[in-house]
Amino acid sequence: MAVECLAAQTAIPLIDIKSVDPTIVIELRYAGANNLARRALYPPGTPALVRPEVASRLVTAQAFLRRYQYQLKIWDAYRPKSVQMQLWQAAHNNDYVADPEAGAGSLHSWGVAVDATLIDAWNRPVLMPTDFDDFTPAAMWHYQGADPAIRSHVHLLQIAMRDAGFYGLRTEWWHFVIANWQKYLPPEELKRALQAFGMRWQDKL
Ligand SMILES: [Zn+2]
Repeated sequence: MAVECLAAQTAIPLIDIKSVDPTIVIELRYAGANNLARRALYPPGTPALVRPEVASRLVTAQAFLRRYQYQLKIWDAYRPKSVQMQLWQAAHNNDYVADPEAGAGSLHSWGVAVDATLIDAWNRPVLMPTDFDDFTPAAMWHYQGADPAIRSHVHLLQIAMRDAGFYGLRTEWWHFVIANWQKYLPPEELKRALQAFGMRWQDKL
C-alpha cells in the first residue's frame, strides 16, 4: 500500500510531521515487528501523518525540548481504522486499545493524537517509565516509581506537550491529544467519543 493510498483512505487533511519539522525523530512502532502485534501493521516507508495543527504544536514542543538538549521521538501518529482493528484484535483488551467499532474508535484515526517519547539531543534513548504499549500500572501518566531520572524525563515531556497544547491520557504516559480535538470530530462521533474517553483525560501535572 502506497503512502498516497494510506492518506486517501480518509477525507482527513493530513501532513507528514517530517515536512513541517525535519528534526523531530520518527520511529513508527507499527511499521516494524517491535509492537504488541509482533508484526508490521504499516507498509514500509509510511510517514507520520497528523492534522496540520497537531504538526505545528509538535514543532512548539520540539523547540522547547531542544533548549534542554532533548527531543521528541514519535512512536505513532495517524492510524487508519483498519490498523486499529488489527491492534484491537491483537490486544484483546478494550481498556487500553479502543474498539474501532465502539464509540469514535481511537483518536489516532482522526489525526489528532500522537504517541511520543523523549530522546536526547544526540538521538539516544533516555530512561522513561516503560516501553511503548506497556499496558501496566507503570505506564500511568503520574509516574509512581522512585527513579529521579525517569521522573524528570517524563515530567519534561509532559511540560513540553502541555505547553504546546496537548492533553495526556491517565493510563499511557506516551499518548497525547491536542486540547481542542473535539472540533475535529463530526457531532455524532464527538458525542460517542466524549462518552468513551470523557473521564480519562489528564491535563494536570
Ligand atoms: Zn496513542
